[in-house]
Amino acid sequence: MTYPKYRSTRSAEPVSFADALLQGLAPDGGLFVPTFIPKLDGIDFRKKDGSFSDLAIDVLTRWLGGELASESIRAAARDALDFPVPLIPLQGDGWDNVHVLELFHGPTLSFKDFGARTMARLMSTVLGSAGEKLTILVATSGDTGSAVADGFAGVPNVRVVLLYPDGLVSPTQERQLIVKRQGVQAVAVRGNFDDCQRLVKEAFADPGYDGVQLSSANSINIGRLLPQMLYYIHAVRQLGGAEVVISVPSGNLGNLTGGVMAALGGMPVRQFLASHNANDFFPRHLTDGSTEWLPSKRTYSNAMDVGVPSNFERLQHLLTADDLRRLIRGFSVSDDDTLASMRRVADECGYIADPHTAVGLEAVRRYRKSTGSPEPAIVLSTAHPAKFPEVTVQALGKKAPTPERLSRLWDEETNVISIEPSAGALREVVLARW
Ligand SMILES: *Cc1c(COP(=O)(O)O)cnc(C)c1O
Repeated sequence: MTYPKYRSTRSAEPVSFADALLQGLAPDGGLFVPTFIPKLDGIDFRKKDGSFSDLAIDVLTRWLGGELASESIRAAARDALDFPVPLIPLQGDGWDNVHVLELFHGPTLSFKDFGARTMARLMSTVLGSAGEKLTILVATSGDTGSAVADGFAGVPNVRVVLLYPDGLVSPTQERQLIVKRQGVQAVAVRGNFDDCQRLVKEAFADPGYDGVQLSSANSINIGRLLPQMLYYIHAVRQLGGAEVVISVPSGNLGNLTGGVMAALGGMPVRQFLASHNANDFFPRHLTDGSTEWLPSKRTYSNAMDVGVPSNFERLQHLLTADDLRRLIRGFSVSDDDTLASMRRVADECGYIADPHTAVGLEAVRRYRKSTGSPEPAIVLSTAHPAKFPEVTVQALGKKAPTPERLSRLWDEETNVISIEPSAGALREVVLARW
């Protein structure tokens, strides 16, 4: 058995998984990609009843077995991925064979829990053997931060600094970010998400952090991408390995990159739909090859408000331009159409979708309309609708039932610092003792 190493999208020098994991972003500013994609040979896609946990261990071992003991991989996967991953068939006229893959049953109710929880455990395993200390910087447009904070809280030798755009995340998302957690500092940046991402990038190049080992936990970290392959494989297997259309509500394209890696490993798939909101950089690129970017716009699906998707560079590396266009169709869904989609799915199927999932559902509807063929489809549901009560009320006139773990947050203590979007202000927070 041979295992991949990792190298930057901008150089040929291979590094270990541990190095790629701890560095996050490559020193040359590129993103780590595997030197090859391990095949999924031997996984029976017709076996509908296999357990998610066993599948996760099997797949992760194909990637990491060269460096991590099988016991560590098993423990990380079992511990991190300890929540259900239901595939729900929609019941309604015109929605035959459309399935919603609910990825929001983890502790922070978004799909980010898969990547963040697994990555935290893998980092802790790797650090444990090296005795290092690490400060993780995370720029979040909503869900990443809380998933990472929750995944790392109390993990020895790791501190987490969360940057989020002040006033641009929903009150519920903010509450999930600023709840006090051991080893975690939330920072409200007086700017937008692109400012937060820029601050993180600048920190990595800033000599003022001499002696502090910085890492990132955004979707750029390879440790988050690997677990994001697993639920695709699990869902496709539950449909008996049919060539499905998979709609992925997308922002930074980390989730989609996980799916593409699974496809390159041999998972059968007809077509990915990159389902974006009004931030349409990638759909435009797929249509006309343009790489012109615009500043991010605020939308109802705010975890996807990304002007320049950071995983674009990775996708371009993994796929030729032709394959990219063959395998992925891009869609851009406006706020009005997002609300209409939420309404349509509630009316026609009795299903409450959050605004991000609604973008994915609308992409499937448009795709089916344009192809005229009701191929089986999977829509990744990336967040629980109760995280977005304002938009849900606006669309449906009522809230989704609130899970207990969400309502409980309003009674907890918080911890947040507000800063200007400047490198110096961030440095002050990170270098302070806490
Ligand atoms: C992060 C996020 C997305 C976008 O995922 P990317 O990997 O950035 O493309 C979509 N929906 C929700 C709810 C998210 O939190």
